[in-house]
Amino acid sequence: MIVIGLTGGIGSGKTSVLQLFINKGIPVYIADIEAKRLMQSDKELIKKIKTIFGNESYTKDNQLNRAYLANQVFGDNKKLEQLNAIVHPAVHRDLEAFKKQQKSKFFIYENAILFENESYKYCDYIITVTAPIETRIKRVVKRDQVTKKQVKDRMQHQWDEQLKIQKSDFVIENINWETTEKLVDKLYQKLLDLSTN
Ligand code: ATP
Repeated sequence: MIVIGLTGGIGSGKTSVLQLFINKGIPVYIADIEAKRLMQSDKELIKKIKTIFGNESYTKDNQLNRAYLANQVFGDNKKLEQLNAIVHPAVHRDLEAFKKQQKSKFFIYENAILFENESYKYCDYIITVTAPIETRIKRVVKRDQVTKKQVKDRMQHQWDEQLKIQKSDFVIENINWETTEKLVDKLYQKLLDLSTN
């Protein structure tokens, strides 16, 4: 069983590329979705969040108070790091459990900040999805109805694309969608070969 990390900057098209693998029947583990689930269900993690950020982090009926927590970490890098430092180990434990359950030759682990939070260590191979920065900004402005500045601000928390490319085993340049589909088809075959050897 090999783990294929999938990453890329905001608006590069990770989710779109991931969908192509899902269409081929490949199991996927999406870090962001699973982290949200764990913050709602993992007792140990919930306890740590309450200890660091206060009981207000959860409502009386034990629902994560997202607005409160977002407010706590917004613009406060130290607090954001503290939150990441407790959420990531929980995600990685869960990822290991997911890995054990899989019967396919490989699965995709999607994480927008795979390098930034050192999750690449859990991967056997890494794919980075790329696109020119202006294209990425335009896509996100359109998708999220936000301003260019808001997109650029979000980008500041992510590594430079070139750095990710250097550390990746495979790069999917996602500009023209038809080309992307062909690249994914080829890569899929390659990954099957790699996982059988
Ligand atoms: P984020 O990190 O913000 O979640 P992402 O890397 O997952 O972004 P997607 O959501 O897959 O990116 O793509 C961003 C937007 O660009 C989406 O609206 C998607 O439909 C569109 N898009 C993706 N690839 C292409 C493409 N090759 N041509 C045109 N539009 C594209």
